[in-house]
Amino acid sequence: MRFSRDYKILPDYEIADAKHGKTLKDILDESEYLLKSLSRYKETADQEEMARIGYLIDHVLALNTRTRMLLGEKFPFNEMAKKLYDLTAPEYDYRKFGRIVEELNQALPGSGSGREKILEFRRRISIPGDRLLEVMTKTTQEFHDMSMDRMTLTGNSIPRVRVRRLPSPDMAFLSILFGYDYNHLEYERNFNLDYPWTVDNVIECIGHEMEPGHLTYYEKRTQTYIDTCWPEMAVVQQFSPSSAFTEGSARYVISMCFDHSSEQKTEFERQVIFKAAGLDAGLADLMPLWHEYCEIAGYGKLEVTRKVWDQVWSRKEAADFLKDYGIISPEAEDESVLHLAADDGHFVAHDYARDVVKAYFKQEASTADEEWRLYEKLCCGHMSMGEMEKALR
Ligand SMILES: [Zn+2]
Repeated sequence: MRFSRDYKILPDYEIADAKHGKTLKDILDESEYLLKSLSRYKETADQEEMARIGYLIDHVLALNTRTRMLLGEKFPFNEMAKKLYDLTAPEYDYRKFGRIVEELNQALPGSGSGREKILEFRRRISIPGDRLLEVMTKTTQEFHDMSMDRMTLTGNSIPRVRVRRLPSPDMAFLSILFGYDYNHLEYERNFNLDYPWTVDNVIECIGHEMEPGHLTYYEKRTQTYIDTCWPEMAVVQQFSPSSAFTEGSARYVISMCFDHSSEQKTEFERQVIFKAAGLDAGLADLMPLWHEYCEIAGYGKLEVTRKVWDQVWSRKEAADFLKDYGIISPEAEDESVLHLAADDGHFVAHDYARDVVKAYFKQEASTADEEWRLYEKLCCGHMSMGEMEKALR
């Protein structure tokens, strides 16, 4: 594998780009032909093949849609999200934005408006640069141990953690995959010293991006690919229902790690993150309310990206909305609403997908252990976000 420390992206992505070299028009034609063939195949397929055929159809449709988008075709936001992720997020209850800011206004220390207290609290739970390595290393080890206790894992894939300055403060981290085999991923995360780390995004980033989130998902998919020879298991398709599953479930498993107890999670934050970061541990009790705010803020971003995409709101209206609720800083440019996420439909595939996964897990599993077995099964199999979404209705 070619490897250079100067790589700005995962080396495997670059190899994959170079390997295929198909034009968008080729991909469009082939995906349309494949969709027709799969639909014909489905007509006479056995019942036990249906989950796999459904998965393949959903993923080829997502590929076809993404290709059309790259060729310049425009879709309304909900249609785009449905075709890419097989999800339709209903309009959020806007009253929740004002309510949570008022609750924070009552609960957070300091003076000024609720919005000002939010900005000040965010500053007070920021991780100092000289403590970042210790915070990230300790949190990574803790999440590794929690994953090992609850899942069937080899235990060989704990990632190396480093910190360094990356080219832009918007980059949270740089990942390097050195190589892998059936029971070992050799992986390194370089966390950006210039990124604005706070207690909540440390816990999100470690649990979500590494174990038991994405890194565990990759380990499970690699093993499934080798065990079954299903080629689709080797494909990590960003704009697709399985991407929405890995994003949504990687958020939900964080809650599973703490047995859905906000007391346990707060204690973890106090003992591990606040301590290693040298922050005022007295603020830890405010974290459950803060996490609730972060969840609602995620839906704020979803609503903004939808309204800007569908041209219902101007950039200024969208930016003002986010500023009103302290979601972006008062100095942020209006243009910043176009850069809330790098991928189209991001907040549907992350925030809304998390709540779909949550509802589905609550419906299908009655104990914590059953939830972990279900998570492992879905990592290795042909899931359908559309089917899971029915649990919300
Ligand atoms: Zn993710």
